[in-house]
Amino acid sequence: DLASWQRPLRAQFPIIVAHPELAYLDNAATTQKPQAVLDAVQKYLTTSNANAGRGTYPWANATTALVERTRERVKGFLGDPAPDRSSVHFTAGTTDGLRTVARDWLTTLLTDGDEIVVPYADHQANLSPWLEARELLARQGVGIRVRELPCQATSGDYDPEALAELIGPRTRFVAATHVHHVYGSDMNVHRIRRVVGPDVPICLDAAQSVGHMPVSAAELDVDFVVFSGHKALALPGIGAIWARGTRGPRFRPGGWSGTPNTAGIAGLAAALDWLEAAGPDRIERWTAGLTSRLTDGLQRLDAYDVLGCRLSLAAEARAQRRTSIVTFRHREISSGDLGFILFSDGFMVRSDSHCQAGTSEKEESVRVSLHVHNTPEEIDGLLTTLASLQ
Ligand code: PMP
Repeated sequence: DLASWQRPLRAQFPIIVAHPELAYLDNAATTQKPQAVLDAVQKYLTTSNANAGRGTYPWANATTALVERTRERVKGFLGDPAPDRSSVHFTAGTTDGLRTVARDWLTTLLTDGDEIVVPYADHQANLSPWLEARELLARQGVGIRVRELPCQATSGDYDPEALAELIGPRTRFVAATHVHHVYGSDMNVHRIRRVVGPDVPICLDAAQSVGHMPVSAAELDVDFVVFSGHKALALPGIGAIWARGTRGPRFRPGGWSGTPNTAGIAGLAAALDWLEAAGPDRIERWTAGLTSRLTDGLQRLDAYDVLGCRLSLAAEARAQRRTSIVTFRHREISSGDLGFILFSDGFMVRSDSHCQAGTSEKEESVRVSLHVHNTPEEIDGLLTTLASLQ
C-alpha cells in the first residue's frame, strides 16, 4: 500500500528527518533534497570536477559525459518519443528557461502582424518574457499582438472555447502552464493542441508538474517543456528546456562556449533517477490524496475560502485534478498573520501573492504545497490549527 511505500522515501530527506517538530508545506516554492541528490553532487565535486566540453584528461571527459548523459536523462524523464530529434538546454531555472525561449527563439520567428497567446493569470515568469519579446520586436519595427489565454474562474484551468476564438491565421505561438502554482489545478493543456492545430508551437511551463506527476511531452503534444531543478528535488540554479525537433540549436549560440552548472547537472541527474525509481505516478497519487484531505477539511471550515475553485461545490471544480497545491484565505485573519500563526505550530507555508501575474499585493493568500515526504498526520495537524482559528 501507498503508506508503506511512502515511509522509507520520507526517511531519505535528511532535513525532514532532522525536524520532526516541523512540517515543510512549501514545496511549490522549492523542494527538499533526498540524500541521493546530496551524495551525487558531493561525489561529482570530489571525484571528477572539471569544465565540460574541453580538455582531454579524464575529469574533463567525465564532466562532458555527465552533461550529455543528463540531457538524455531529461529526454527520457519527459517521455520524449524521438530523442534523436530533440534537444535539451540547461538553464538556471524556469524563469531563465522561459526567457531564453522568448529571446533566443521566439523573437527570431515572428514578423510584423503575428500573434501570440500567453497566460495572464499564471506565474509572472510565464508572462514577462513574452511581453518583453514584444518590446524587443517593437524596437526593431516589428509589431506583434499578444492575446490573453483565458483561465476559468470556476475550475482554475484554461477555457478551450475561449481559446478557439483567439486562434487565427496569424497565431504563431502559445505559452501555457501545466499546473497552476496558486490554484494547483492541472490546466488540461492537452486540449490546446486540438484547438490550435498541428503547426503552432506550444511552450509549457512545467515548474509545478515535473517531479510531482508524470509529465509526457509526447502526450501533451507540446514543443517546449521548461522546468526548474530545485522544484524537482535537485539544487537551485539548474533547470532545463526540452525542445522538440530541431528548434533547439538556435539557443545560446556557441554551444560549449559557457561553463554549465555541472554540479547542478549532477544533482539533477540524481534527482530524476530518484523520482523515476519512486514513480511519478505514485508520487502524484500520494500528494493528491493529501490534497483532497486538506481541501475536504477546509470545506468544513466556514472561515476559509479555497482559491481556484471559487464555486467550490461546482462539479467541474471538484472533478479538476489537483495534485499538490491548495491555496486559501481566512475571512478575517490576514494571510501574513495566518502564516506566522501556522509557523508557531511548526507549519511552514507560503503567504503572499505568490508571484501571480495580474494580482496585487492586497490579494495575499496562504499556499500549502506538498511532496512525497508529507504525511496525513501533517495535514490533520494543520487542519486542527486552522479549525482553532475559526
Ligand atoms: N512558473 C511557475 C508555475 C512557478 O511556480 C515558478 C516558481 N514559483 C516559476 C515559473 C519560476 O521558477 P524559478 O523561480 O525556479 O525560475
